Amino acid sequence: MDDNRISTAAGLYIHVPFCRSKCAYCDFYSVTDVGRIDGYLEALSLEMELYRGFAPVFDTVYMGGGTPSCLPADRLADVLARLRSAFPVSPGSEITVEVNPGDVDTACLERLREAGFNRVSVGVQSFDDAILTTLGRRHGGREGREAVDAARRAGFDNLSIDLIYGVPGQSPEGWRETMESALAVNPEHLSCYELTLERGTPLHRRVEAGQLTLADEDEAYGFFSATSEFLEGRGYIHYEVSNFARTGALISRHNHKYWDHTPYLGLGPSAHSFRGCRRWWNRRDLPRYISDLRAGRAPVDGQEELSQEQLRMEALYFGFRTKRGIHGPAFRERFGMDLLREEGAALRGLRDEGLIRLDGEVLTPTRRGLALADRLCLL
Ligand code: SF4
Repeated sequence: MDDNRISTAAGLYIHVPFCRSKCAYCDFYSVTDVGRIDGYLEALSLEMELYRGFAPVFDTVYMGGGTPSCLPADRLADVLARLRSAFPVSPGSEITVEVNPGDVDTACLERLREAGFNRVSVGVQSFDDAILTTLGRRHGGREGREAVDAARRAGFDNLSIDLIYGVPGQSPEGWRETMESALAVNPEHLSCYELTLERGTPLHRRVEAGQLTLADEDEAYGFFSATSEFLEGRGYIHYEVSNFARTGALISRHNHKYWDHTPYLGLGPSAHSFRGCRRWWNRRDLPRYISDLRAGRAPVDGQEELSQEQLRMEALYFGFRTKRGIHGPAFRERFGMDLLREEGAALRGLRDEGLIRLDGEVLTPTRRGLALADRLCLL
């Protein structure tokens, strides 16, 4: 997909709520009780039935979690086959599966590719064993290298690698070595996240107790800009705050649905969905998720109807987080607001601070603007 073309087909997200163990920084919903896999898969099929007719066509499927690779490849293949019979997934769709190092080998990844997954996202996080230990990951750097090599051997030609920076004890040099190691397989896509800690996670408790120190604002910006400079220098497009693609065609189509207000359906515990101006989210509770569906109820935990003003704020927020930026005429048509006329002084101020570029009627964030994207929507 060209990075300026917006698909209006819907996206489909499946949350697989299992992990072999919990990482020290993670706040995503997952359980380690793999004995519940059968109940989950049965409930997932019931949930698919509830949402038949959600959209005329889907062109992305994303199986994330949790850790999808906690399930055997045959079972993931079966879920994909069921999705395809329940929903109109168009030919040529982007179909991603997340896997963790230590879970997958070449044979397993070949099976996933045969089943129709055409993009794999490997949760490497770091190639440095000490950093992986701090993060509480189950695998070492060697398993990370083996997983990405196995993905290539299995024939995946759309490979994404997840990495984390700003980890206590991580030096700028160590981070650069991790990026260098990732580039050894020439990945089509990289997601580089700053470590942020949610309250209640073990790593947060250690930081609160003074046992570890998190990067301060200046250090975090140092990591961010070094990442952007390094990867752009190697030819990657820094297309969103944390995301890099080798070409415009390799930008994650699925992620863009979240940023464009394109409809998406999320299935599985804690998954979020969006259509029109309504957003809803499922229970973060696997037993309740299963019992709701067995009783014929949607396992929805909450919902919100977004006003035009809220949608407008979100469009600004998401627009300033992506290289695509905000297209003035499209914004005017959608929200009836001439940004340049009504917010001209504020926008010129942001431009003068070096946070955005104004190119005719198109506003795009600079590298510094991407780092401070949350601030830019406060117009
Ligand atoms: S980071 Fe990934 S593997 Fe670790 S607990 Fe969270 S979802 Fe599971």
